Amino acid sequence: MSSQPASEQFDVVVIGAGPAGYPAAIRAAQNKLKVACVDQWQNADGSYAFGGTCLNAGCIPSKALLESSELYLRAKQEFSAHGIRLSDVQLDLGIMQGRRAAIVKTMTGGINALFKANGVVGYQGHGQLRPGNIVVVTGADGAEKRVEAKHVVLAPGSVPVRLRSVPHDGKWIVDSWNALEFDAVPARLGVIGAGVIGLELGSVWRRLGSEVTVIEALDEFLPMADQAIAKEALRHFKKLGLDIKLGAKVSGAEVSGSTVKVKYVDAAGEHAFEVDKLVVAVGRKPFTEGLLADGTGVVVDGRGFIEVDEYCHTAVPNVWAVGDAVRGPMLAHKGKEEGVMVADRIAGRFAEVNYKVIPSVIYTAPEIAWVGQTEQQVKAGGRAYKVGTFPFSASGRARAMESTAGLVKIISARDDDEILGIHIIGPMAGELIGEAVLAMEYSASTEDIQRTIHAHPTLSEALHEAALAVDKMAIDSINR
Ligand code: FAD
Ligand code: NAD
Repeated sequence: MSSQPASEQFDVVVIGAGPAGYPAAIRAAQNKLKVACVDQWQNADGSYAFGGTCLNAGCIPSKALLESSELYLRAKQEFSAHGIRLSDVQLDLGIMQGRRAAIVKTMTGGINALFKANGVVGYQGHGQLRPGNIVVVTGADGAEKRVEAKHVVLAPGSVPVRLRSVPHDGKWIVDSWNALEFDAVPARLGVIGAGVIGLELGSVWRRLGSEVTVIEALDEFLPMADQAIAKEALRHFKKLGLDIKLGAKVSGAEVSGSTVKVKYVDAAGEHAFEVDKLVVAVGRKPFTEGLLADGTGVVVDGRGFIEVDEYCHTAVPNVWAVGDAVRGPMLAHKGKEEGVMVADRIAGRFAEVNYKVIPSVIYTAPEIAWVGQTEQQVKAGGRAYKVGTFPFSASGRARAMESTAGLVKIISARDDDEILGIHIIGPMAGELIGEAVLAMEYSASTEDIQRTIHAHPTLSEALHEAALAVDKMAIDSINR
């Protein structure tokens, strides 16, 4: 790149190639627009990679390790129940981590291929929006390229929240990205935050042999989930051996040699414990550093989120923002739908996101998944409701899989049978929730699910039976 800015013109320039930005770029190109996508993600070795947090350091590597560690644990604890005798199950963390890294490389490389196939111009470097829809891309060598766009889509994503009293050093006190790349199993692992990351990563390292202590500030476990499901989940996490301390506020952490001393306060007073690694997983915040030059007119709120309307349009004409950097849950699939919506709206097509029907999945064992309202939310809203549940212990397929933990819970309106929320804890809950999302997206009633044929024997029958249980008509379990 030359230091004398050259100007190239595009219909759409997307800043950020995570799961919100790259689908926006691809859909815009599919809509016959001339598109560029800029991303600055760099790995530890300095290489650039498209895909954002999700592909490089989030959804994909964490699921690779969750799968491997779960297989390891099942081989050790469960295979004997199937009549499979293994004399010795050994862990080769090097191979496990190599597999994780290879999956990430394949998936991020796939985005290059998708950009090429769809005619998206990919720039690797920092993108900054300047007034007048100019984007300046700064490459690794510091050279600048100026591009002009009719529309700009901001998709800069998010970064981990850090705690001042727990100073991050990337070696002993780490974030989720570091914790996905440990090259040895820490004998003692501390996790601050019993949120989604804390539970998923805590599960990975516990299954591989760490003693795991999780410190959670709130008294309530998984407050965003239905509390019946959260209660069941807490039981299973304890069974796995996660030592979860609720109502515990971390007051500080100090590294001494190769040990981290963690201090926390709970109702009983101050406590301290020592670990070999400490993961801070207390949430993420929007990443807008250096994104907006002075005078763009884009508004960022007090918590760092870019302000947008329901269609992800900012206060500036033809400037849009999507994904983790705007309001709503920080989930890859939410960002993807926003990116696609914006690309379609830019092309003059009708598009919207149904924010009421965004599924959540926690990929632990058992998996936890839900869509719609929890029973606490329905109760607080005052609408009369009915509930049906079905335990996986009554499912033939779950029995065959040796995975009978958990249940499906459906909450429906008493007046018109509308499905208000579906909550699952159990085997493949993240896959099963797809049917629930589709049903709610199409405004199906509970009776619609009751009248839908589900193949036998499948896990999806649990959803069917839970729908029948809503009206006390379950066949395969006792109606209460
Ligand atoms: P990001 O994925 O953060 O991508 C933004 C990209 O923009 C990055 O590459 C960044 O470098 C780049 N960028 C930022 N600013 C600039 C700039 N000025 N110029 C150029 N480039 C820029 N979500 C799920 O739905 N399912 C999961 O299973 C899941 N697991 C997760 C596990 C972990 C450990 C973590 C940390 C997150 C997980 N998430 C999961 C959340 C998910 O990763 C995010 O919701 C998602 O990545 C957000 O997408 P995004 O495109 O908005 O942002
Ligand atoms: P989170 O908001 O899910 O959980 C953070 C937890 O930390 C909360 O329970 C909070 O009460 C606790 N906490 C905050 N400050 C604390 C303190 N000082 N001491 C003790 N506890 C404290 O955030 P996360 O787990 O970091 O995940 C970040 C985002 O990434 C989430 O929005 C999540 O949706 C997304 N994510 C999604 C998935 C998935 O979809 N499976 C997986 C991982 C991450």
